[in-house]
Amino acid sequence: MHQLTLAEIARGLADKKFSSEELTKTLLARIALLDPQLNSFISLTEDLALQQAKAADARRANGESGALLGAPIAHKDLFCTQGIRTSCGSKMLDNFKAPYDATVVAKLAAAGTVTLGKTNMDEFAMGSANESSYYGAVKNPWNLEHVPGGSSGGSAAAVAARLLPAATGTDTGGSIRQPAALTNLTGLKPTYGRVSRWGMIAYASSLDQGGPMARTAEDCAILLQGMAGFDPNDSTSIDEPVPDYRSSLNGSLQGLRIGVPKEYFSAGLDPRIAELIHNSVKELEKLGAVIKEISLPNMQHAIPAYYVIAPAEASSNLSRFDGVRFGHRCADPKDLIDLYKRSRGEGFGPEVQRRIMVGAYALSAGYYDAYYLKAQKIRRLIKNDFMAAFNEVDIILGPTTPNPAWKLGAKNSDPVAAYLEDVYTITANLAGLPGLSMPAGFVDGLPVGVQLLAPYFQEGRLLNVAHQYQLNTDWHTRTPTGF
Ligand code: GLN
Repeated sequence: MHQLTLAEIARGLADKKFSSEELTKTLLARIALLDPQLNSFISLTEDLALQQAKAADARRANGESGALLGAPIAHKDLFCTQGIRTSCGSKMLDNFKAPYDATVVAKLAAAGTVTLGKTNMDEFAMGSANESSYYGAVKNPWNLEHVPGGSSGGSAAAVAARLLPAATGTDTGGSIRQPAALTNLTGLKPTYGRVSRWGMIAYASSLDQGGPMARTAEDCAILLQGMAGFDPNDSTSIDEPVPDYRSSLNGSLQGLRIGVPKEYFSAGLDPRIAELIHNSVKELEKLGAVIKEISLPNMQHAIPAYYVIAPAEASSNLSRFDGVRFGHRCADPKDLIDLYKRSRGEGFGPEVQRRIMVGAYALSAGYYDAYYLKAQKIRRLIKNDFMAAFNEVDIILGPTTPNPAWKLGAKNSDPVAAYLEDVYTITANLAGLPGLSMPAGFVDGLPVGVQLLAPYFQEGRLLNVAHQYQLNTDWHTRTPTGF
């Protein structure tokens, strides 16, 4: 049963082949057996899961239907879940029980999903290896000595290891797409504003966006359907109707114009990944797509701009964790300043402290124009590059990451080496565009992802291309040995 996709689960439940309760018990047993190798969960919510599964079965028995009714999922541990620990992967929030559900959590629960637990993540979503979690590193099921990517590494590892069919993630600079690529999943970062950020603990508010992680594009369509939509509680949520994503899956790719940016194939890209990307292009050409070389001339400035803007916003967002309003409080403070200093010094790990310092510096008077304002100007240039490109093409295609999953610890002594891994993903966040990563082959037994980017609100187009590709390839069906 653990091999089933969301779409297959929905059919099985509708045909009464099994109940949601049976499925939930099977998956919880599998998590208990296998997750000790992976560390992909921070909290398990067995009681809630069984209660939700029984309720979903009862709703089905009463004649209700729905692709998510009775479907087991998990939430990245930065989505607030009422009465359940919401740690954000940090000691700072180790004993924080959210007083309310995030909009995404509430919407999915209303659609009938069953929450198996909260998944491990980089502390405050800062990272691309899932090694900065207070709860320990997550292992990649394809090779337990390698990282699963981050920051949604727990969601990625759990879904890749068939502990559950799908999970939520968030993507500020690639944290859905990059771990999806490194664990052979399909992951979608929606257009900024498509999915509510209410109750999603903020990292960099102008970049953060929640989205689905699953094994197939079809399952991403199903999960996104339950997550997307206008939310008056989020002032950056956009009031656009949500299309039926599943009905867009079967469009023909005949004449689809795919742009491949020449800047993507620079020296930093592993040549074996480049070859797999070219193979995926050929596959899409067979399906009728037309390939065009394009240029994104300002791409080289994306990493420096992102690593000013994201830490700047983080330093502001994370000021609320002061041991008074939120978060860990140190023992026996001697005065208020001592309380702030020690609470934050004890509660935040080194990567979070580094980002707060970089961000506070970039925002300080005298440096603001030189760093933050400059970075915002670069952001606009990057957006303009995309707008120009999308006048010529319908989709942009390239690698999701320059390298396959690296060994645990390999980049720990050099944070900049890890930042460079974000080169292909962060531009979509800077511009607010939707992006998807899907499985495209293997290098040394480790998965490789191909990234597709589309114009604003064209999530359906991304899912359509990915679904058609997956009907004609079998990379996404490969299962890691031992799982
Ligand atoms: N790796 C990037 C960072 O560390 C992106 C993280 C994310 O998308 N949450 O900031």
